[in-house]
Amino acid sequence: MKVSVIGGGTMGNGIAQVFAQFGHEVNLIDVQQDHLDRALGTVEKNLGRMVKKEKISQDDATATLGRLRGVVGLENAADSDLVVEAVFENFDVKKAIFTKLDEVCKPGAILASNTSSISLTKIAACTKRPESVIGMHFMNPVPIMKLVEIICGQATSNETLAAVTKMAEELNKVPVTVQDYPGFIANRLLMPMINEAAYSLMEGVATKEAIDTVMKLGMAHPMGPLTLADFIGLDICLDIMEVLYEGFGDSKYRPCPLLRRMVDAGHLGRKSGMGFYDYS
Ligand code: NAD
Repeated sequence: MKVSVIGGGTMGNGIAQVFAQFGHEVNLIDVQQDHLDRALGTVEKNLGRMVKKEKISQDDATATLGRLRGVVGLENAADSDLVVEAVFENFDVKKAIFTKLDEVCKPGAILASNTSSISLTKIAACTKRPESVIGMHFMNPVPIMKLVEIICGQATSNETLAAVTKMAEELNKVPVTVQDYPGFIANRLLMPMINEAAYSLMEGVATKEAIDTVMKLGMAHPMGPLTLADFIGLDICLDIMEVLYEGFGDSKYRPCPLLRRMVDAGHLGRKSGMGFYDYS
């Protein structure tokens, strides 16, 4: 199968790697060659690590890289059977991409989005083929995490759902089907927990270390919610809370003022060197 992945960032390079590992010819498409060089370099490094750990052979790694092509321009997706979009989480950016993909891609091609929180129904409505538009929400880091949340928009056909579910299984992932409501399942459950952890810290219920320890040792979470928020990025956590709050119109999703204040201060977590914890 021919696959195109749009966006060579954190998620895009992982998605491209996994499709190529499982034998698909993949175009990785971005707006600039240097982004592609960086993305392909990351894939090469990841595969090298897997060879060292004897998870794959050197021949497998070489063959995987041979199936990956970094290219600039959406027209390169023209003959793909499946396109997975993984660009910035911004509706206007995604709208422009889906409008263009709808023009250039062959009839019957499936257009998927890796969005974490934007309505698939809204994205599908930017095309003349809403029945072939679907969410494929991979988790970070893509080569390691087993889950793919498959999101059906209002008009997504059963054929599209069946095809994408089968594809996810062939990538050795576990697909779950979710309907198109704010936050789907992953973020609808995860983000209110993180938000509540921020409220608990703001109200002085416990220290950040104590809050994280309760969830790690008490609930067997691999990392505490505040550590996880720093890892995801506090700006992203805030954006998703806003999506839930606006989408449901329910006060139980109101973003924690401490979370908002930290984002205003530029304390975005690991990526800025400071979040709930200090990474400097
Ligand atoms: P990122 O910022 O790391 O990468 C985005 C990439 O898209 C960049 O390389 C950028 O150059 C490229 N891009 C932007 N506009 C483009 C265009 N018009 N054409 C082609 N390429 C373009 O972003 P990310 O963290 O990989 O997130 C991508 C998507 O995945 C978002 O929708 C996000 O919500 C979702 N997501 C992210 C995570 C995560 O943990 N990072 C997890 C699940 C889902």
